[in-house]
Amino acid sequence: MTDLREWRELVSVVADLLAAYVAESRAADGPVLALAPASAVHEELELGRWWKGGMDAAGVSRFLTRYLARTTRLHHPHYMAHQVAVPALGSALADLVNGVVNNGTSIYEMGAAGAVIESAVLDWMLAKVGWSAGAGGVLTHGGALANLTALAAARGAAAPDAWEHGVPGDIVILAAPSCHYSIARAASLLGLGSRRVLPLECDPLDRVAPGAVRAAHEAARAAGRRVMAVVVSACATATGLHDDVHACGEYCRTHGLWLHVDAAHGGSALISERERHWLRGVELADSVVWDAHKMLQTSNLCAAVLVRDKRILESGLRFQASYLIRGESGLGVQTARRSIECTKNALGLKLFLNLAFLGEDALARNVERLYENTRRFHARIAKRPGFTCPYEPEANILCFRFRADDGTQDRIRSRLLEEGRFHVSAAHVSGVRHLRLTVMNPDSSLTAIDALLDRIEALAAE
Ligand SMILES: *Cc1c(COP(=O)(O)O)cnc(C)c1O
Repeated sequence: MTDLREWRELVSVVADLLAAYVAESRAADGPVLALAPASAVHEELELGRWWKGGMDAAGVSRFLTRYLARTTRLHHPHYMAHQVAVPALGSALADLVNGVVNNGTSIYEMGAAGAVIESAVLDWMLAKVGWSAGAGGVLTHGGALANLTALAAARGAAAPDAWEHGVPGDIVILAAPSCHYSIARAASLLGLGSRRVLPLECDPLDRVAPGAVRAAHEAARAAGRRVMAVVVSACATATGLHDDVHACGEYCRTHGLWLHVDAAHGGSALISERERHWLRGVELADSVVWDAHKMLQTSNLCAAVLVRDKRILESGLRFQASYLIRGESGLGVQTARRSIECTKNALGLKLFLNLAFLGEDALARNVERLYENTRRFHARIAKRPGFTCPYEPEANILCFRFRADDGTQDRIRSRLLEEGRFHVSAAHVSGVRHLRLTVMNPDSSLTAIDALLDRIEALAAE
């Protein structure tokens, strides 16, 4: 594609199709998702035909129409399944700009504007955590990679020689079984092995139990083991419930333990005066992970690793590549030193454009609206005969069951997915299967919930 006039036409064809797609999705005219067997989708998209090139404006229109028909419509108010943002369209412009400019931000000379914006949005996030001088961070492609990065820093602090000599046999991580699976993966990848993630005792809703950190720490010490990090969730992925960050933080500060707060999902509540109390004590952490692509409404991906002492982030990951960096640039930050990734998109632009178009207050109001709607949905579901909710939601994630057995929940969900009128997920709470809603779309309403519950009753009766 070398002709720029033609390219501009294509962009406007694509913009028109996308605008129509968003409008149609918002209006809830059709299904929220239309799943089909992979081979059928392959055929519909005419992949064989396009393999040799030749796509023009008419072709892209035909192709994209078919492509969009087989997407999961996050702008549809019946999208209530997963934790991916309904992106504000400002951040989508960042994807277009990044795609054309194609600057990395890991080394300053490959994108000064993107690198400066990354630092600026990180400073904004660090201030929300309650940190200032000495704190630092880096943006990554997703929360899973962010958890690995933060725990690499924790490993560097606990065992500075591990980089060269491997991890000593006595270091362990303390975490609840309800923490995100990327924590066990990180432990494995960092050389501890997932078995050295020792479980913290939990309450009946899978939250870290009071006194559990002390008990696990003392047991580890008695067994001759050193704690590399204590991991808590704010909030937990399955339930949306928060561990007591403040209590765990005070214990960790007093005993010199590294506290990692996985706030990939719930971190965005920090921008709301009304909802930030769920993360009380977060400033006591050593590292925090916060995904902007969940509740700050950016497109995928824009995750932040935030650390109280930025020097540790750099010492946790050693760096040597004479073809990239030789000494400091003197002009700006070289984030390659802090990042597992080498080439990395200008991710900060997504969050920056959301702030620039909407403003911080509107982003905060959105978090509040999602949380408030989830409480209203809970009240409605809990009241309805045959439905039970195991807890009052704290964030925008809510679990419920229709009737008693696990099989029914999975059968209902499969039928809902087949029909495509509602997109909901499922999860275990204390080992029991539940249907699960993640309310990411501010347009999801009580009317949608009523229609969903009606449909669930009908499907269960089939
Ligand atoms: C979503 C989530 C993650 C993973 O983040 P990705 O951006 O999907 O990689 C990690 N931890 C928690 C608590 C989450 O909710």
